[in-house]
Amino acid sequence: MTAPTARGRVAELATNLAAVEERIARACASAGRRRSELTLIVVTKTWPAEDVRALAALGVRDVGESRDQEAHPKAALCRDLALTWHFVGRVQTNKARSIAEYAAVVHSVDRRRLVEALAVGARRAGRELQCLVQVSLDPQPARRPVGDDPGRGGAAPDDVPALADAVAAARGLRLAGVMGVAPLPGDPASAFDRLAAVSRLVRRAHPEAGIISAGMSGDLEQAIAAGATHLRIGTAILGARPPNR
Ligand SMILES: *Cc1c(COP(=O)(O)O)cnc(C)c1O
Repeated sequence: MTAPTARGRVAELATNLAAVEERIARACASAGRRRSELTLIVVTKTWPAEDVRALAALGVRDVGESRDQEAHPKAALCRDLALTWHFVGRVQTNKARSIAEYAAVVHSVDRRRLVEALAVGARRAGRELQCLVQVSLDPQPARRPVGDDPGRGGAAPDDVPALADAVAAARGLRLAGVMGVAPLPGDPASAFDRLAAVSRLVRRAHPEAGIISAGMSGDLEQAIAAGATHLRIGTAILGARPPNR
Protein backbone atom coordinates (compact mmCIF):
# COMPACT_ATOMS: atom_id res chain seq x y z
CA MET A 1 0.00 0.00 0.00
CA THR A 2 1.39 3.42 -0.96
CA ALA A 3 1.33 6.28 1.50
CA PRO A 4 -1.30 8.33 -0.36
CA THR A 5 -3.64 5.30 -0.43
CA ALA A 6 -3.15 4.79 3.31
CA ARG A 7 -3.92 8.47 3.90
CA GLY A 8 -7.01 8.15 1.74
CA ARG A 9 -8.24 5.22 3.82
CA VAL A 10 -7.68 7.08 7.09
CA ALA A 11 -9.64 10.06 5.72
CA GLU A 12 -12.44 7.75 4.58
CA LEU A 13 -12.63 6.08 8.00
CA ALA A 14 -12.62 9.47 9.72
CA THR A 15 -15.47 10.73 7.52
CA ASN A 16 -17.54 7.58 8.05
CA LEU A 17 -16.91 7.56 11.78
CA ALA A 18 -18.03 11.19 12.02
CA ALA A 19 -21.20 10.39 10.05
CA VAL A 20 -22.01 7.50 12.40
CA GLU A 21 -21.37 9.72 15.44
CA GLU A 22 -23.77 12.24 13.90
CA ARG A 23 -26.46 9.55 13.55
CA ILE A 24 -25.84 8.45 17.15
CA ALA A 25 -26.10 12.05 18.38
CA ARG A 26 -29.42 12.60 16.56
CA ALA A 27 -30.84 9.28 17.82
CA CYS A 28 -29.76 10.11 21.39
CA ALA A 29 -31.40 13.53 21.14
CA SER A 30 -34.71 12.10 19.96
CA ALA A 31 -34.64 9.33 22.58
CA GLY A 32 -33.65 11.72 25.40
CA ARG A 33 -30.47 9.78 26.04
CA ARG A 34 -26.83 10.81 26.49
CA ARG A 35 -24.00 9.70 24.20
CA SER A 36 -22.09 8.62 27.31
CA GLU A 37 -24.67 5.86 27.89
CA LEU A 38 -23.50 4.19 24.69
CA THR A 39 -20.39 2.28 23.68
CA LEU A 40 -19.61 2.21 19.96
CA ILE A 41 -18.00 -1.07 18.91
CA VAL A 42 -16.50 -0.88 15.43
CA VAL A 43 -16.86 -4.30 13.79
CA THR A 44 -13.64 -4.78 11.84
CA LYS A 45 -14.26 -8.33 10.53
CA THR A 46 -12.81 -8.90 7.03
CA TRP A 47 -10.75 -5.67 7.30
CA PRO A 48 -6.99 -5.66 7.94
CA ALA A 49 -5.08 -4.76 11.08
CA GLU A 50 -4.03 -1.47 9.40
CA ASP A 51 -7.67 -0.38 9.53
CA VAL A 52 -7.82 -1.24 13.23
CA ARG A 53 -4.71 0.92 13.76
CA ALA A 54 -6.25 3.79 11.82
CA LEU A 55 -9.45 3.52 13.85
CA ALA A 56 -7.48 3.49 17.10
CA ALA A 57 -5.70 6.66 15.99
CA LEU A 58 -9.14 8.19 15.44
CA GLY A 59 -10.08 7.42 19.04
CA VAL A 60 -11.85 4.06 18.70
CA ARG A 61 -11.29 1.88 21.79
CA ASP A 62 -13.71 -1.02 21.18
CA VAL A 63 -13.51 -3.33 18.17
CA GLY A 64 -15.61 -6.35 17.21
CA GLU A 65 -14.77 -9.53 15.32
CA SER A 66 -16.76 -12.60 14.38
CA ARG A 67 -14.28 -15.31 13.35
CA ASP A 68 -11.55 -16.54 15.63
CA GLN A 69 -9.29 -17.56 12.73
CA GLU A 70 -9.21 -13.95 11.61
CA ALA A 71 -9.52 -12.20 14.96
CA HIS A 72 -6.78 -13.99 16.90
CA PRO A 73 -3.87 -12.94 14.64
CA LYS A 74 -5.35 -9.47 14.18
CA ALA A 75 -5.61 -8.93 17.93
CA ALA A 76 -2.00 -10.09 18.28
CA LEU A 77 -0.83 -7.60 15.63
CA CYS A 78 -2.69 -4.82 17.49
CA ARG A 79 -1.74 -5.82 21.00
CA ASP A 80 0.20 -2.58 21.62
CA LEU A 81 -2.98 -0.56 21.07
CA ALA A 82 -4.58 -2.00 24.24
CA LEU A 83 -8.02 -2.10 22.62
CA THR A 84 -11.05 -3.90 24.02
CA TRP A 85 -11.90 -6.82 21.71
CA HIS A 86 -15.49 -7.95 21.46
CA PHE A 87 -16.31 -11.32 19.94
CA VAL A 88 -19.71 -10.88 18.28
CA GLY A 89 -19.96 -13.93 15.98
CA ARG A 90 -21.12 -17.44 16.57
CA VAL A 91 -18.62 -19.26 18.80
CA GLN A 92 -17.56 -22.74 17.77
CA THR A 93 -17.02 -24.65 21.00
CA ASN A 94 -13.52 -25.72 19.94
CA LYS A 95 -12.55 -22.05 19.47
CA ALA A 96 -13.68 -20.93 22.94
CA ARG A 97 -10.23 -21.33 24.46
CA SER A 98 -8.59 -19.28 21.73
CA ILE A 99 -11.20 -16.53 21.95
CA ALA A 100 -10.74 -16.26 25.72
CA GLU A 101 -7.10 -15.29 25.12
CA TYR A 102 -7.85 -11.91 23.51
CA ALA A 103 -11.55 -11.11 23.83
CA ALA A 104 -12.73 -9.06 26.80
CA VAL A 105 -16.40 -9.55 25.97
CA VAL A 106 -18.16 -12.41 24.17
CA HIS A 107 -21.55 -11.22 22.88
CA SER A 108 -22.80 -14.50 21.53
CA VAL A 109 -23.26 -17.04 24.32
CA ASP A 110 -26.24 -19.04 23.13
CA ARG A 111 -25.91 -22.54 24.60
CA ARG A 112 -24.88 -24.33 27.78
CA ARG A 113 -21.98 -26.24 26.29
CA LEU A 114 -20.33 -22.98 25.36
CA VAL A 115 -20.52 -21.67 28.93
CA GLU A 116 -18.23 -24.37 30.27
CA ALA A 117 -15.88 -24.13 27.25
CA LEU A 118 -15.50 -20.37 27.69
CA ALA A 119 -15.05 -20.72 31.45
CA VAL A 120 -12.23 -23.23 30.94
CA GLY A 121 -10.61 -20.87 28.43
CA ALA A 122 -10.93 -17.86 30.72
CA ARG A 123 -9.41 -19.71 33.67
CA ARG A 124 -6.56 -20.98 31.52
CA ALA A 125 -5.89 -17.45 30.24
CA GLY A 126 -6.07 -16.16 33.81
CA ARG A 127 -8.65 -13.54 32.93
CA GLU A 128 -12.29 -12.85 33.57
CA LEU A 129 -14.42 -12.94 30.45
CA GLN A 130 -17.54 -10.80 30.24
CA CYS A 131 -20.35 -12.68 28.57
CA LEU A 132 -23.62 -11.60 26.98
CA VAL A 133 -26.39 -14.07 26.33
CA GLN A 134 -27.42 -13.81 22.69
CA VAL A 135 -31.19 -13.78 22.39
CA SER A 136 -32.81 -14.97 19.19
CA LEU A 137 -35.10 -12.22 17.95
CA ASP A 138 -36.51 -14.34 15.12
CA PRO A 139 -40.29 -14.67 15.32
CA GLN A 140 -39.72 -18.44 15.60
CA PRO A 141 -36.30 -18.92 17.17
CA ALA A 142 -34.17 -21.67 15.72
CA ARG A 143 -32.96 -23.93 18.53
CA ARG A 144 -30.00 -25.15 16.54
CA PRO A 145 -28.52 -22.25 14.63
CA VAL A 146 -25.92 -23.03 11.99
CA GLY A 147 -23.25 -21.15 10.06
CA ASP A 148 -21.95 -17.62 10.43
CA ASP A 149 -25.06 -15.69 9.39
CA PRO A 150 -25.35 -13.03 12.13
CA GLY A 151 -29.13 -13.28 11.81
CA ARG A 152 -29.00 -16.88 13.00
CA GLY A 153 -28.04 -17.99 16.42
CA GLY A 154 -29.20 -16.88 19.79
CA ALA A 155 -31.04 -18.70 22.53
CA ALA A 156 -34.82 -18.82 22.46
CA PRO A 157 -36.11 -16.12 24.86
CA ASP A 158 -37.59 -18.78 27.17
CA ASP A 159 -34.16 -20.40 27.54
CA VAL A 160 -32.33 -17.16 28.36
CA PRO A 161 -32.87 -16.97 32.16
CA ALA A 162 -31.38 -20.43 32.77
CA LEU A 163 -28.49 -19.70 30.43
CA ALA A 164 -27.86 -16.40 32.23
CA ASP A 165 -27.81 -18.24 35.56
CA ALA A 166 -25.27 -20.71 34.17
CA VAL A 167 -22.98 -17.89 32.98
CA ALA A 168 -23.27 -16.08 36.31
CA ALA A 169 -22.36 -19.27 38.17
CA ALA A 170 -19.35 -20.13 35.99
CA ARG A 171 -15.95 -19.41 37.51
CA GLY A 172 -13.98 -17.24 35.07
CA LEU A 173 -17.05 -15.68 33.46
CA ARG A 174 -19.03 -12.58 34.36
CA LEU A 175 -22.59 -12.19 33.15
CA ALA A 176 -22.70 -8.70 31.65
CA GLY A 177 -26.01 -8.58 29.75
CA VAL A 178 -27.75 -9.60 26.55
CA MET A 179 -27.22 -9.24 22.79
CA GLY A 180 -29.53 -9.45 19.81
CA VAL A 181 -29.52 -9.14 16.02
CA ALA A 182 -32.73 -7.84 14.44
CA PRO A 183 -34.00 -10.34 11.85
CA LEU A 184 -34.09 -9.33 8.20
CA PRO A 185 -36.59 -8.70 6.80
CA GLY A 186 -38.50 -7.44 9.80
CA ASP A 187 -39.22 -4.53 12.07
CA PRO A 188 -36.07 -3.78 14.11
CA ALA A 189 -37.99 -1.62 16.61
CA SER A 190 -40.24 -4.49 17.71
CA ALA A 191 -37.30 -6.93 17.75
CA PHE A 192 -35.30 -4.57 20.00
CA ASP A 193 -38.33 -4.10 22.26
CA ARG A 194 -38.42 -7.90 22.72
CA LEU A 195 -34.71 -7.81 23.55
CA ALA A 196 -35.29 -5.03 26.11
CA ALA A 197 -37.99 -7.14 27.77
CA VAL A 198 -35.63 -10.12 28.03
CA SER A 199 -32.97 -7.77 29.46
CA ARG A 200 -35.38 -6.61 32.19
CA LEU A 201 -36.11 -10.23 33.08
CA VAL A 202 -32.40 -11.10 33.26
CA ARG A 203 -31.65 -8.02 35.39
CA ARG A 204 -34.33 -9.01 37.89
CA ALA A 205 -32.10 -11.97 38.85
CA HIS A 206 -28.76 -10.33 37.91
CA PRO A 207 -28.96 -6.55 38.41
CA GLU A 208 -25.33 -6.10 37.32
CA ALA A 209 -25.99 -7.52 33.83
CA GLY A 210 -26.88 -4.15 32.33
CA ILE A 211 -25.45 -4.37 28.82
CA ILE A 212 -27.89 -4.44 25.89
CA SER A 213 -25.84 -5.04 22.72
CA ALA A 214 -28.07 -4.12 19.80
CA GLY A 215 -27.90 -2.01 16.68
CA MET A 216 -25.90 -2.44 13.48
CA SER A 217 -25.28 -0.12 10.54
CA GLY A 218 -28.89 -0.31 9.34
CA ASP A 219 -30.77 -0.08 12.62
CA LEU A 220 -28.73 1.83 15.19
CA GLU A 221 -31.46 4.48 15.60
CA GLN A 222 -34.09 1.88 16.57
CA ALA A 223 -31.60 0.21 18.93
CA ILE A 224 -30.85 3.49 20.71
CA ALA A 225 -34.58 4.21 21.03
CA ALA A 226 -35.08 0.75 22.60
CA GLY A 227 -32.34 1.24 25.21
CA ALA A 228 -29.22 -0.30 23.66
CA THR A 229 -25.99 0.33 25.56
CA HIS A 230 -23.58 -1.14 22.98
CA LEU A 231 -23.75 -0.63 19.20
CA ARG A 232 -21.94 -2.98 16.78
CA ILE A 233 -21.21 -1.02 13.62
CA GLY A 234 -19.26 -2.39 10.65
CA THR A 235 -20.33 -1.40 7.14
CA ALA A 236 -21.25 2.22 7.90
CA ILE A 237 -17.66 2.86 9.05
CA LEU A 238 -15.46 0.44 7.07
CA GLY A 239 -17.49 -0.06 3.89
CA ALA A 240 -19.22 -3.03 2.29
CA ARG A 241 -17.96 -6.55 3.01
CA PRO A 242 -18.22 -9.61 0.76
CA PRO A 243 -21.74 -11.10 1.06
CA ASN A 244 -22.61 -13.06 4.23
CA ARG A 245 -19.73 -11.72 6.26
C1 LIG B 1 -21.07 -8.11 11.10
C2 LIG B 1 -21.82 -7.92 12.35
C3 LIG B 1 -22.18 -6.63 12.78
C4 LIG B 1 -21.91 -5.38 11.98
O1 LIG B 1 -22.88 -5.29 10.96
P1 LIG B 1 -22.95 -4.03 9.96
O2 LIG B 1 -24.29 -4.19 9.35
O3 LIG B 1 -21.84 -4.17 9.00
O4 LIG B 1 -22.86 -2.80 10.78
C5 LIG B 1 -22.84 -6.54 13.99
N1 LIG B 1 -23.14 -7.62 14.74
C6 LIG B 1 -22.81 -8.87 14.34
C7 LIG B 1 -23.18 -10.01 15.21
C8 LIG B 1 -22.15 -9.06 13.15
O5 LIG B 1 -21.83 -10.30 12.77
